[in-house]
Amino acid sequence: MMELDYYEVLGVSRSAGDDEIKKAYRKLALKYHPDHNPGDPEAEQNFKRAAEAYDILRDPDKRARYDRFGHAGVNGGGGFGSNEDIFAHFSDIFGDLFGFSAASRGPRPMAGSDLRYNLTISFSQAATGDEITLSLPKHVTCSECKGSGAAPGSKVETCRQCNGTGQVRRSQGFFQIAMPCNTCQGTGRVITKPCAKCKGEGIVTDTRELVVRVPAGVDTGTRLRVRGEGEPGVHGGPPGDLYVVLTVELDKRWRRQGQDLVFTQEVSFVQAALGHRVEIPGLEKPIPLDVPKGVQSGAVLRVPGEGMPYPGRRQRGDMLVEVRVLTPTRLSDRQVELLREFEAAGEQTPLQKVKKAAKKISKAMGLD
Ligand SMILES: [Zn+2]
Ligand SMILES: [Zn+2]
Repeated sequence: MMELDYYEVLGVSRSAGDDEIKKAYRKLALKYHPDHNPGDPEAEQNFKRAAEAYDILRDPDKRARYDRFGHAGVNGGGGFGSNEDIFAHFSDIFGDLFGFSAASRGPRPMAGSDLRYNLTISFSQAATGDEITLSLPKHVTCSECKGSGAAPGSKVETCRQCNGTGQVRRSQGFFQIAMPCNTCQGTGRVITKPCAKCKGEGIVTDTRELVVRVPAGVDTGTRLRVRGEGEPGVHGGPPGDLYVVLTVELDKRWRRQGQDLVFTQEVSFVQAALGHRVEIPGLEKPIPLDVPKGVQSGAVLRVPGEGMPYPGRRQRGDMLVEVRVLTPTRLSDRQVELLREFEAAGEQTPLQKVKKAAKKISKAMGLD
């Protein structure tokens, strides 16, 4: 679809105030309302465009981004999938305009909402993967009244106000406006005796258990989507999805860098100079590692395939061993002596050796 200028869609200037924008949208919403334009695809498109434009321009943040960056600043606007979304999203406007919301338009299928569940797991659960049982609140159809909201044995009568249609018609300006029936809240039925268990709602809150499989290698922020486990749909609409958002606890032994694990291995400066064999903690078992002689402090040794698994794959990240060379801070006199000797030995360059040898020779020959 071609991207239209939102100000043009609403027919307002770029400096229009909030009230002006709202007024312009109300006018268009009324004009292109599907109830007044049944089976007119152009009106429906205009109705959706106006909603999209209003959604951006009524929000100061989105409007500022749109002004600066155009559609790119608001992710292309997004738009609305269905008229029901629009009614639900701007219920304030449609409440004012028509005195009804989507619910009173009769039983149309609507998808259930997505749910979010925050779950904290241990580091080892993340490393190996796990099956975790969640306790979820769930809205379920009341078993007492089978969802009717009427007490068992009581009668559900057809609303006399609207003759069971759920709507009453009223003139407003040029239009005949469908209003929800106040007597039955748009359901077309009147419950004479509400169900005691659900207080006439037809729905009760229950707890249910759901087993979620957490794959190995997940990290904080990983979202697991469990299809169809969100809120139930309304009037036969599909259920929403459940999103399990993970927090993985830290492990003192390693730092995590994506799927790599970072371990810090301390060695003495003698071990660094001469080389040293160590054992570092691995996910399953200790990993033997040769710290090579001459290693520098800060050097990183890589042990391939000993990091975290990649979720859903056979590969694993690496273990990165960061070497820290420790400088001794308390030395005995003997150690100081040895280190001085060590340094002196290290200082002797070949030229010094030659000079020393030459001196010895000249001394021996009596030329000194
Ligand atoms: Zn009930
Ligand atoms: Zn009624």
